[in-house]
Amino acid sequence: MLLRANAKINLALDVLRKREDGYHEVRMIMQTVGMYDRVTLTPLPGETGIRMETSLPYLPANEKNLAWKAASLLMEEFHVEDGLHIRLDKFIPVAAGLAGGSSDAAAALVGVNELFSLGLARNGLMERGAKIGADVPYCILQGTALAEGIGEKLTSLPPMPKSWILISRPNISVSTKQVYGALAADRIKEHPDVDGMIEAIRARSLAGIASRMGNVLESVTIPDNPVIETLKQEMLRGGAMASLMSGSGPTVFGLFSDRDRAEILRDDLRKRYPGVRTFLTWPVNGGGNRI
Ligand code: ATP
Repeated sequence: MLLRANAKINLALDVLRKREDGYHEVRMIMQTVGMYDRVTLTPLPGETGIRMETSLPYLPANEKNLAWKAASLLMEEFHVEDGLHIRLDKFIPVAAGLAGGSSDAAAALVGVNELFSLGLARNGLMERGAKIGADVPYCILQGTALAEGIGEKLTSLPPMPKSWILISRPNISVSTKQVYGALAADRIKEHPDVDGMIEAIRARSLAGIASRMGNVLESVTIPDNPVIETLKQEMLRGGAMASLMSGSGPTVFGLFSDRDRAEILRDDLRKRYPGVRTFLTWPVNGGGNRI
């Protein structure tokens, strides 16, 4: 079974407070984009357990991989007797703020549920996904959504207007845990207007969405990684309506209404920043995981 595991960006990311249990309460506008990893699941009748291979030698191909964790969680709960082979072809940059690992886990949950006819509805899969990571339920839901709580309380929103997303990923890894750890949630000066963004999405106003893009984690990640600010400025100079860091970074994206402009800037950035991976993608409105 062939599955698609799409990346996400955050059009807005706000942190409301740090909870007593150490997690941060967030309000985020999530958006699925067209870039995806390919997850291939093959049942192994007569065998037990999971075998895995990945296209990236430095990624774990064992119980530490989020796709493995997701598959094994369902297979144990439902006492699946066959074995399973997972082949993961990574195209989403790793540790980049694009939820690649969470999306692989989401695809594995959806795939194992279908492959072994476990009969779980989407909500059941989302509940189990939350045990693997706060972004996994969203990666099952997909599309445009408001995420609250620690990211697991989800409200679907209407799809965003047709547009283009230029993604630039500098060659640095950022740990989501460290970024949240360094954030002084009670001293955030500027909060993005998440409610205004929801209104703009409902009004199908791309300009309204662009003017409300904001991410409070930029204040932690950018001072240590000035290339992020450089890329944001490049996006704006190249004609983006707005530009933002996604998640905890270091990926930067620019929002474009015009495909030609985005393509010209993509080619230009690839030439001038050969160490930065630059891709052109677009918002995706759900569409599920099956290829
Ligand atoms: P988020 O946006 O949710 O913070 P991210 O895009 O920053 O996620 P990921 O690419 O999901 O980060 O992965 C972060 C870490 O998780 C990596 O260091 C990697 O070793 C580990 N990991 C486990 N499974 C996977 C997977 N299937 N794909 C990518 N990384 C994985």
